[in-house]
Amino acid sequence: MSTGKINFNAGPATLPPEVLREASKAVWNYKNTGYSILELPHRSPEFLDIIEESKALVKELCNLGNDYEVMWVHGGGRAQFAMMPMNFLSANDSAGYMDSGHWAAEAIEYAGYYGKAAILASSKGTKYNQLPEWPSEIPDGLKYIHITTNNTIYGTQYHKVPKTPAPLVGDMSSDIFSCKRDYTKYAMFYAAAQKNLGTPGVALAVVRKDFLKKSADNLPPIFSYRAHVKENSVVNTANVSGIYVALLMLRWIKGKGISAIEEENNAKAKMLYGALDKSKVFIPHVANKAHRSHMNVCFTGINSNIEKAFSALCRDNGIAGVEGHRSVGGFRVSMYNAMPAESVETLVALMNKFETKV
Ligand code: PMP
Repeated sequence: MSTGKINFNAGPATLPPEVLREASKAVWNYKNTGYSILELPHRSPEFLDIIEESKALVKELCNLGNDYEVMWVHGGGRAQFAMMPMNFLSANDSAGYMDSGHWAAEAIEYAGYYGKAAILASSKGTKYNQLPEWPSEIPDGLKYIHITTNNTIYGTQYHKVPKTPAPLVGDMSSDIFSCKRDYTKYAMFYAAAQKNLGTPGVALAVVRKDFLKKSADNLPPIFSYRAHVKENSVVNTANVSGIYVALLMLRWIKGKGISAIEEENNAKAKMLYGALDKSKVFIPHVANKAHRSHMNVCFTGINSNIEKAFSALCRDNGIAGVEGHRSVGGFRVSMYNAMPAESVETLVALMNKFETKV
């Protein structure tokens, strides 16, 4: 642990100590340039190197070829909710959206500003405690189909994605690089960085070139994917330090390897869901094991006294960030790639101890 707290927050989230150490060195003096990374000019050769290395690493980790473009964009996840339809929908066009949770619903709302968002399926009726059933029929003519690969607030995750009749777009903000995945299924995917990729405010966006060709060419450059690609992610003053931390994360991910990361994530999830499934005081939000997120594990207590008592116990034991999202309550334990298995073990031990005392 770097800060002394076990930090289960959903994002900004725990970062690996190696990344924090390297980033703090760069804050003082980036690669002996005499610049802090906080001062490094966005048009310097050093920053260009950061961009190039990060782009190459994203392609390598996703196993993508030259038919894809990689870019860093401002504004986190929500800016992507807006940029997707801005770039790919006009007023009479439709895109299909799977309504699998809070962020999916917000993406749907944003799409409505620019075109028509067709809700292909929704699990809202069951408080998003499962993934929506994949529709047997999908309307023709959709410009793209948007899914949220991991639903951060409700704790569901697509472990398998069917083939889609329109270009597939994924919001991977809360599970990018957490498991082996065929990224070539996606015409485009994006991820806000503050979970598995570093710090907030910056997002990774990856697009297949043939899909990019279908995007609008009459947008203000800062909202245009074409412009971001053309200007190599430096349309304006880029988030230099945020992109640098993302590069450190990419190097860390490559060092561990995605297979090893996936194994660790599976083991952490097994440990925590195992404890929940046998618990008499906690109830997992997602009963269907095939839909359970390995990143965000959501549960409630059997009553509010149990919830208050467990929250206090966590606080007293230096465990932070286990409270559920303000819109749902209960608990949410976020355990992205950088969360060590030992921290999950500590939490599970505390849950077990709590259980014997109530
Ligand atoms: N998509 C998902 C899946 C998220 O979890 C979040 C934020 N937690 C967002 C989008 C929104 O990201 P931001 O706060 O950077 O706008």
